[in-house]
Amino acid sequence: MAASDRPVRVRIAPSPTGDPHVGTAYIALFNYVFAKKAGGKFVLRIEDTDQTRARADSEQMIFDALHWIGLSWDEGPDVGGPYAPYRQSERAHHYKAAAGELLDAGKAYRCFCTAERLAKVRIQQQAEKKNSGYDRHCRDADPTEARNRAAQGETHVVRLKAPLTGSVVVHDQLRGPVTIDADQIDDQVLLKSDGLPTYHLANVVDDHLMQITHVIRAEEWISSTPKHVLLYQAFDWEAPQFFHMPLLRNADKSKISKRKNPVSINYYRDVGILPHALLNFLGLMGWSFGDDREKFTLAEMVDAFAWEKVSLGGPVFNLDKLTWLNEKYIHDLDYEQLADAVISWRLNKEHLIRVLPLVRERIKKLDELIPAIEYFYSGDLDYTPVLADMKIPDATPADVGKALLDYIEKIEAREGFTAAVLEEEARKWTEALGWKAKHSFMLLRFAVTARKASPPLFETMSVLGKEITRRRLRQAAEIVGKAK
Ligand code: GLU
Repeated sequence: MAASDRPVRVRIAPSPTGDPHVGTAYIALFNYVFAKKAGGKFVLRIEDTDQTRARADSEQMIFDALHWIGLSWDEGPDVGGPYAPYRQSERAHHYKAAAGELLDAGKAYRCFCTAERLAKVRIQQQAEKKNSGYDRHCRDADPTEARNRAAQGETHVVRLKAPLTGSVVVHDQLRGPVTIDADQIDDQVLLKSDGLPTYHLANVVDDHLMQITHVIRAEEWISSTPKHVLLYQAFDWEAPQFFHMPLLRNADKSKISKRKNPVSINYYRDVGILPHALLNFLGLMGWSFGDDREKFTLAEMVDAFAWEKVSLGGPVFNLDKLTWLNEKYIHDLDYEQLADAVISWRLNKEHLIRVLPLVRERIKKLDELIPAIEYFYSGDLDYTPVLADMKIPDATPADVGKALLDYIEKIEAREGFTAAVLEEEARKWTEALGWKAKHSFMLLRFAVTARKASPPLFETMSVLGKEITRRRLRQAAEIVGKAK
């Protein structure tokens, strides 16, 4: 049966490498909508084979963020399903078996080239201005000998024998066919030296085994698709249909990045964007309702969905537009619903119980509370009152701005957003800069509270949360960096 005739099954396949990205929600939304419209299934698969980048807390954050925004899936690691397990780290045997199948058929080979040899080849290719890529040194070696070397424990990878001549045609359903000459395609690695699969192998094997009919993913994966098509051909499997959605962009049209836009779904949650507004906004990225309607529900989008309404011009993730839409949503809530929204945001007991220990000793009457905790509940701060003090002796404003950005990187690289982690990183960072903690900690205090006095700094950051803290540090860095 052709992919187009099989029951529709789509998937998202996020890698749990950091904060839950708005791009993941965007692609999830289009998969969800397409699946529902077609009466099909929507699968969530976790692609965690890159152990160096996977983070333990990230998977749960992806589930939570997608649920918060209002999306759910029919099959996945948390809900199970007929093709379980849905976590690639638990499916290694499938990839090994698949690679073994290609080795046996002479469609793949073991490669024993060392990193040093590959580096030399690369330098040579650059000097000769040739295409870079593997020079296929091991491709024609005797397979029996290669198997013996592997059996004796020699380090190796498994590569696909990509065709040497001809071309590969990728049919992107949104763009039409794209032809890639064979000499542009490398003998891709399928299994790495640790025996784990590459993204390409695991992705294709799973899409096949999970009976995925339509691969709807971001444009950034389009360059991987020829490799996937070659793999489907090597296995003699029917490829799914491919749809590469246009990338989300910053206002300057560059690919959306956290340097220019907050990209974590949790940021939008923490600043009080309503989940339905964010989902609706993502629905406007690259798609339009058909009439001029900009505010619509998920069910209405499912109803009206058609690929013809997708446009490939890079959709801009415009914060003003999101805020405008959010305002409409707020105004359309009745007071009961609005109260519920505010409570579930931050005005709830659970959150207050984190804030109160930081301010109890500072208030004498309850009417002093709101002014004392105001900065725990507000978004961007006004640094004017403290700007003149946001200095470090002997450091230029540009250095101070850069150092703040540097601190963000340090805390982002750590798991857990606890006061202890934040303080440990701040001490190391201060020492590396050769600054005094009394200066650098004050700088951080100004950046996250815009006040001269505040409760213990790192506890405050921890309660503010990663998103708000990061945003304020970034904004402070920008303002201080530009100060004269
Ligand atoms: N693991 C890839 C990601 O992180 C999956 C891309 C795809 O959908 O094929 O998005």
